[in-house]
Amino acid sequence: MNTKNSINICVLGGGFSGLYTALYLCSHPQVKSGKWKITLVEKNDNFLFTPLLYELITGELQRWEIAPTYQKLLLGTPIKFCQQIVKKIDLENRSIALENNDSLSYNYLVLGLGTQNYWADIPGLKHHALTFRTLRDLEKLQANINYLESLDRQHLRVAIIGGGPNGVELSCKLADRLEKQAEVLLIDRGNQILKGFSKGVRNASYRALGSRRVQLYLNTNVEEIKENYVILNHGEQKINVSVDMVIWVAGTQSKPLINSLNCQQSNSGKLLVNRRLQLIEYPEVFALGDLAQISNKNKSLPGTAQVAYQQASCAAKNIAAIIQGKPLKAFKYLHLGDMLTLGRRTAIISSYGINISGQLGGMMRRLAYIFRLPTMRHRLQVLKNFVQKIGLRIRSVFRSIVTNLLGRKSSRKYSK
Ligand SMILES: Cc1cc2nc3c(=O)[nH]c(=O)nc-3n(C[C@H](O)[C@H](O)[C@H](O)COP(=O)(O)OP(=O)(O)OC[C@H]3O[C@@H](n4cnc5c(N)ncnc54)[C@H](O)[C@@H]3O)c2cc1C
Repeated sequence: MNTKNSINICVLGGGFSGLYTALYLCSHPQVKSGKWKITLVEKNDNFLFTPLLYELITGELQRWEIAPTYQKLLLGTPIKFCQQIVKKIDLENRSIALENNDSLSYNYLVLGLGTQNYWADIPGLKHHALTFRTLRDLEKLQANINYLESLDRQHLRVAIIGGGPNGVELSCKLADRLEKQAEVLLIDRGNQILKGFSKGVRNASYRALGSRRVQLYLNTNVEEIKENYVILNHGEQKINVSVDMVIWVAGTQSKPLINSLNCQQSNSGKLLVNRRLQLIEYPEVFALGDLAQISNKNKSLPGTAQVAYQQASCAAKNIAAIIQGKPLKAFKYLHLGDMLTLGRRTAIISSYGINISGQLGGMMRRLAYIFRLPTMRHRLQVLKNFVQKIGLRIRSVFRSIVTNLLGRKSSRKYSK
């Protein structure tokens, strides 16, 4: 792949860290002129804006809005897209082995391959539980929901295991989608949901779960999952609860491909990087997003899109700097706040001590995310759709007010 006189930058993973690094790099004149070549390697053909994945359950958003194809996103950019699975990374020889037996060599490498589901050692978990991270997970979940809805049965039960943001957001959306047909249980072994989040976010979440009658099982361990029930352990008590669907959203872990790399890693298997986001032993390799951890930092950064997205900007600048022999900058994370969807069109936004919840929060969260979508062209398309939908909603609210008023007037006329 090495073309004479050109510099090859290879980006592995087209998620929040990889895709955004590649796009940031594109604004550099040396990339535009073709002196620096960027190759983005990704196994899927669609990017996935995960924070809005829940909106596909309730049909608030369409798939094209949050999962545009790379072909569409990269149109008109000099980025070369390579849809392949990365099989092996040889840091010593600066070479990447792909599943189709091709190999790529690089001058600079960006590792943005993310993490994978963590499977606890619970009998029946892998066999019976669904997960919720990818478009394929969503398709399986939708198929299960459609099946449950087709049963035309009341008193169904859905169990969600994991009381982090994923579990809370999923509980609210599923409760809204299945409404009176199913009861949602949210199970966590801790004594509260949303560990590490502010009190405002937690309180709004408890309210949202309560108003949707989501049953909270805190201090509860899942012992076993069978086809139609789960065995829970609450204190000394063992309870069998019948369930029609189980979703596991209790954590992530490093991929074996990443753990196999010959470089420093944290106890939890994350790649250790310096403050400039370079691997300690390989300064030409930048590792970011969920798979990396900055060494010598007392507190590790959360595994969020917000961190990955900010690191992408820093990595792109540092790659340009290292090639040009300029000093590199340390990554500084700025926590802008938290946003959680708490049901259809509803969210909580918490930023710098200010909390906005309800429908206004829902609208602001949607807008904030639209402006985080990967390219300007895509942002504008989604924004146009959003504005049209709001226009339709305002018109229908206005129409129902007018109909109501007219109805009242005519009923007064008749009652006279
Ligand atoms: C449902 C859900 C909701 C979330 N909501 C929020 C939220 O509201 N706010 C927030 O800040 N964060 C949220 N997150 C977390 C956020 O998605 C991650 O922190 C973020 O995606 C991490 O970015 P990344 O680039 O490290 O990894 P990813 O975005 O996961 O990207 C990794 C990419 O690498 C590709 N890949 C992996 N292995 C290979 C391989 N061997 N070969 C080729 N390609 C490969 C994957 O297909 C993927 O595209 C959410 C996550 C989920 C699952």
